[in-house]
Amino acid sequence: MVRICVSMACLLALSACASSGGPSGAPPVGVRQQQDSYYQAAAQAVSARETERGAPRAKNVILFIGDGMGVSTITAARIWAGQNRGLDGESYRLAMDTLPYSAFAKTYTHDSQVADSAPTAAAMTTGVKSYNGAIGVTQSADIRKCATAETASADSLWEIAEDAGLATGVISTARLTHATPAAAYAKTTERDWENDAQVSSSGKEAGCRDIARQFVDWRHGDGFEIFMGGGRANFLPSSLSDPEYPNQKGARADGRDLTLEWANAGPSRRVVTDLAGFRGVNFDSDVQVLGLFEPSHMQYEADRAKDRAGEPSLADLTRAAMTRLSRNPNGYVLMVEAGRIDHAHHAGNAARALADTAALDEAVAAAMAASDPRDTLIIVTADHSHTFVIQGYPGRNNPILGLVTYPDGKGAVRGLDSRPFTTLAYMNGPGSICRISPQGNVCNREDLSNVDTQALDYVQQALIPLPSETHGGEDVAVFARGPGAQLVSGTIEQNEIFHVMARSLRLVR
Ligand SMILES: [Zn+2]
Repeated sequence: MVRICVSMACLLALSACASSGGPSGAPPVGVRQQQDSYYQAAAQAVSARETERGAPRAKNVILFIGDGMGVSTITAARIWAGQNRGLDGESYRLAMDTLPYSAFAKTYTHDSQVADSAPTAAAMTTGVKSYNGAIGVTQSADIRKCATAETASADSLWEIAEDAGLATGVISTARLTHATPAAAYAKTTERDWENDAQVSSSGKEAGCRDIARQFVDWRHGDGFEIFMGGGRANFLPSSLSDPEYPNQKGARADGRDLTLEWANAGPSRRVVTDLAGFRGVNFDSDVQVLGLFEPSHMQYEADRAKDRAGEPSLADLTRAAMTRLSRNPNGYVLMVEAGRIDHAHHAGNAARALADTAALDEAVAAAMAASDPRDTLIIVTADHSHTFVIQGYPGRNNPILGLVTYPDGKGAVRGLDSRPFTTLAYMNGPGSICRISPQGNVCNREDLSNVDTQALDYVQQALIPLPSETHGGEDVAVFARGPGAQLVSGTIEQNEIFHVMARSLRLVR
């Protein structure tokens, strides 16, 4: 009998009797981006390392992404976390520091030296490099024509895994329609089209869909088992009040309540919007959970921990997700994003960036404790860096958020302007020492002698004035443990991370 197969699920069903290969016994399948040059180069690089170092099979993969977590952020967060525990911060070890393999990843994109989160996340979820601002599409997309996202789509590891019968999850402290989590399911040339009201009229005419709608339209396997984070407003119609903030409304102009549509599409689907709802879910069951804990991004960890803002921590979310996903005997793929490290950096606010990095590390520790390194590949990395520096020659044990002081206790080190400066600073952003005035630029560095630079809201000094501090373009660190981790070493392309994960799971060739 001749059967014509067009979908990946169909291909898998046809080949289900094969004796080896993918998790359900099916051999690995082709992906839509198979002919892309970035995809092929990365596949070859990882394949060559498999030949050298072996290719153990992973049952599960957990990808941790610290959004904007450059190397200087990791170092500063390590010192901060150690000092907060009354320990020697410099020699303190984060959980991610204890992972046995590490590499540098090159984060440039198809069109930019310095990346934004859309193509860098998609590099890891689909194995290709693409355009800044674009999600889930290859270089063959035309970023001026949103409809080309359909023809230039790249399959994500989450889609491939669902189609192969694995369980899948996405967790983020950012809006679930934000670039990084969206890279698990969306295809768009416009990362800012998170709800339909944001789609341009020409985009609507061309039939281009917003990202939240792409989530409910997602047709892979039985859908995500776990999808938890922020961004509630993008799923609710503008006619509906927010359940937590009655003065706020949903953001959708099309009148659709996507939370209801999603919940009605399966028998065991639960939507939760607060800590009590989260705690009421039995994750050790076949439940599918859509958690939307804020209308926009979730709270920064420093604020959540301070006033118990009614939200689970990233570690809480990670533990719950692993409980649910590990019920699938075929294994699972989970993304955990600390999305707000990036936002605090954009605001020039190091204290919140470090607290969110430490919260990510606690989630990494939770995942390490709850998984077996013999069957679970854990990768911890960043999508890109920031212009964040650790400077001067501060003495050991000097508070990381403090002023640079001499190691011998002789007080603050001063610049040639006779003023002290902080250990942590930015090259650009809202903390700029320059102000634009009718008389021209006035650059005058504030005297920090009597400023509490360790205050949560303190904005570090910067040079170039910009409303939002920018990303940085240097390589980011990648840490790994488990089957496939030995493929993570040296200097790699960011999109190789997809190939390490997908090949270790035996989901692609
Ligand atoms: Zn950013």
